[in-house]
Amino acid sequence: MIRVGIGYDSHRFAEGRPLILGGVTIPHAAGLAGHSDADAVAHAVTDALLGAMALGDIGRHFPDTDPRWQGADSMELLREACRLVTAHGGRPQQVDVTVITEQPKLAVHAAGIAANLAAALGVGAGAVSVKAKTNEGMGWIGRGEGVAVIAVATVEAS
Ligand code: MG
Repeated sequence: MIRVGIGYDSHRFAEGRPLILGGVTIPHAAGLAGHSDADAVAHAVTDALLGAMALGDIGRHFPDTDPRWQGADSMELLREACRLVTAHGGRPQQVDVTVITEQPKLAVHAAGIAANLAAALGVGAGAVSVKAKTNEGMGWIGRGEGVAVIAVATVEAS
């Protein structure tokens, strides 16, 4: 049986922090605010995988009130979520990710992000898609206030 999960995350830009998406540190004037490293790609994919297995969400497993996750490497949270999925009889199959931000341009980083995600999920490079979009200047994304990410994951489960 194939199960499908969707994940969404957003983080506000904040100066003086690194911009980390899918485990890739991206040169930019600002990073993202958050309790962890604020890797919105890792967070959205984590929620998609947990959602596929009806295992709740990232906040339930890695609460931002827990000092253990202060400044956490979110790719490690993603790997932990994969272990949880596996422990419940699931096997991640593929993910499709859309990152929405006006700046910086992410297309050049998409392959690196996809490779990191594929390694974390234990799937081949062809099983991970990362797409970059702008919001055509509209709304909070258009004003450059932050980044939004949508992810869909499929998991094979018995
Ligand atoms: Mg987040």
